[in-house]
Amino acid sequence: MSGFLFRDIVFGPVRSRRFGISLGINLLPLNKKVCSFNCIYCECGLTHDTSESDSETFIPGEIIKETMDRKFAELKESGISPDNITFAGNGEPTLHPDFPEIIDETILLRNRFFPDAQITVLSNATTLGNARIKEALLKVDKNVLKLDVGTESYMKLINNPVWNISLTKIVENLKEFKGNLIIQSLFLRGTVNGEYFDSSSDENVNVWLKFIKEISPRLVMIYPIDRSTPLSGLEKLSYNELNRIAKKVNELGIQTEVYY
Ligand code: SF4
Repeated sequence: MSGFLFRDIVFGPVRSRRFGISLGINLLPLNKKVCSFNCIYCECGLTHDTSESDSETFIPGEIIKETMDRKFAELKESGISPDNITFAGNGEPTLHPDFPEIIDETILLRNRFFPDAQITVLSNATTLGNARIKEALLKVDKNVLKLDVGTESYMKLINNPVWNISLTKIVENLKEFKGNLIIQSLFLRGTVNGEYFDSSSDENVNVWLKFIKEISPRLVMIYPIDRSTPLSGLEKLSYNELNRIAKKVNELGIQTEVYY
């Protein structure tokens, strides 16, 4: 099943439970998902032929900056002010080769057009070991970084990295944010290639909780699959099941929200 792709660089604004009036920025190609993960639940569909060097498929940073400038001005003119300028879209935004420069430009544009808006980046946390990317992320208001799993085997099954990156390394990099981050975690169960799994199981959740405690984020966002998935055989967890996980996070003294 093919997934949903954003056809614009700047999209919305949309009203979002997590981010209020959210103006989306898509730094990925408009006709192709590009990501360092290949999550089995990804609403953009499966990842194909992504490599760290396929920068030629990205829209040039200058065009992105010009588009943001024009769209922000149009929005301002129409009297709409977003609560969040949210980097999301057709894959992993930090893979754009000009990501640091685009963040700098976004901060300038935000200050000029919507000084009360926050800049939010949704990232799968696989690129945090890159000093330029980490430095850029430290400039934005909200980093919402993915951690779905507690074990390497669950990461391989659910997030299915395209690159050779370990969960241990991702957690190490998340800890370097010293708590100034939000963790987003999706839980699900199902059968993939004949193998049954349940990421809400104690086997996964107990180790995930240990990592959450070590990372000590200011908030954990917990959510289920919501839209159609590229693989069949996946099951949406109930609100109560997600809430059971959230309570365990709360017991660590960490704030949690379940989005259902
Ligand atoms: S990290 Fe996000 S964009 Fe990438 S495959 Fe997973 S859900 Fe899709």
